[in-house]
Amino acid sequence: MSRSGKEKRTRQTFKLACCACLVPVLLAFTACGQAADAGSAATGGAQFDNAATIQDTPAAGNTQNGAGATDSKAKSAQSSDAQALWQSLGVSVDTHAKLEHGPKPASDQLYVVLHDTETSGSAASVVSAWAASGGNRTGIAAHFVIGRDGKIVQAVPLDQIAHHVGAGNKGMDAKFGVKYDATRDDGMSPEEKNQVKMGYTSTGMNDFSIGIELVHNGQSDYLVAQLKALDALIKYLDAYYRGAPKGNAGTIIQHKSWRTSNPDCSAAFQKYFKNYQKYRSYKVG
Ligand SMILES: [Zn+2]
Repeated sequence: MSRSGKEKRTRQTFKLACCACLVPVLLAFTACGQAADAGSAATGGAQFDNAATIQDTPAAGNTQNGAGATDSKAKSAQSSDAQALWQSLGVSVDTHAKLEHGPKPASDQLYVVLHDTETSGSAASVVSAWAASGGNRTGIAAHFVIGRDGKIVQAVPLDQIAHHVGAGNKGMDAKFGVKYDATRDDGMSPEEKNQVKMGYTSTGMNDFSIGIELVHNGQSDYLVAQLKALDALIKYLDAYYRGAPKGNAGTIIQHKSWRTSNPDCSAAFQKYFKNYQKYRSYKVG
């Protein structure tokens, strides 16, 4: 998918503003999904088909709700099966205060937004680049990055807002039932303000979502290890957020569902994503 003229202009503007640290900025920029085009080659292929992740299982968690949506309730869930799931994930925690933009209680957890980094390299290198770019209150990052090898790095705690999704098309706030929460969020970055000026006037998704970035250059298949890790991470998040409004981590969307001109997630991901739209699969192992 090609970027629109608006997206191109946004990127130009940001480059001019941040030319002194272009490389990390470009990496960080991908957290908001305005990196290079994803490319049109939907390779699909054996790697994707072999991913042991797709089965027709109803969404988990919805029948297990009933608890109030409070952080203490979420932590209660964390103390049981969620805690065991967390241990099995082997997550490397590499959090940074500059990437945290305000409290995000479990009561406000409504969506999981999937992204592509549009880069190569390790998950750890992506988080390092985020940590090295931007200033206070402007850091762009997702909560988690999943490498091609399946390694997961956490960049932002679950109870903190991450600026991973930027501004969306006009009307998206209403469509998704979210609204920018100035009582919690510490403010939009210059990049987000530019997006709003260009007509992307929806700004509420960051405050009600978890962001997960898949390391992917936009051109190749997603490896089985990476997809299994994503599956396992979502299973953990569902357990952690059992007391949240949706009874799990919420509706899984991709970045372009929020800003339609966005290139991520890549074409090769669509078959897998389509399954997530309807089910939680959890066939991990
Ligand atoms: Zn994105």
